[in-house]
Amino acid sequence: MGDAAYCPSPLSGQGNSLALIGAYVLAGELAAAKREYNQAFDEYEKEMRPFVKANQALGIKASKIMKLNEEKNLLAKVSQYLMKIAPGILTKFMINRSTRQINQAANGINLKNY
Ligand SMILES: Cc1cc2nc3c(=O)[nH]c(=O)nc-3n(C[C@H](O)[C@H](O)[C@H](O)COP(=O)(O)OP(=O)(O)OC[C@H]3O[C@@H](n4cnc5c(N)ncnc54)[C@H](O)[C@@H]3O)c2cc1C
Repeated sequence: MGDAAYCPSPLSGQGNSLALIGAYVLAGELAAAKREYNQAFDEYEKEMRPFVKANQALGIKASKIMKLNEEKNLLAKVSQYLMKIAPGILTKFMINRSTRQINQAANGINLKNY
């Protein structure tokens, strides 16, 4: 669990949350499985994998935004232009969008009451 299992990258901003939730889920599944360790590990992976993937994706998205300046495609040119003429509006738009995506990924698991 933690970085050793999920490697979400500091760019995701979710490493601590994943580590803590992973610890909770693994402990819960081990307790619930009553010594059936293989079953506990399977359940742990089933619960965690989609959640971890959604949070890893945040890091990949953030790295793409950081690389935008190096790129020569249309999206890079448009965003550079917008940043020059309306930096406040673009920054607000990007912060709102990424906050929405972070909220969605960070709340992307229904924790069981073990
Ligand atoms: C620059 C940066 C910014 C970050 N920002 C955020 C953020 O804003 N939000 C967020 O949620 N996360 C953030 N993270 C990620 C977060 O710090 C990690 O995801 C989290 O610490 C992972 O916890 P962990 O217990 O899995 O691993 P670690 O915290 O790395 O703990 C592993 C421990 O194991 C020890 N260890 C290693 N090998 C051995 C060995 N052989 N024997 C004994 N002990 C050993 C290490 O010394 C270490 O103490 C950031 C990380 C970095 C680097």
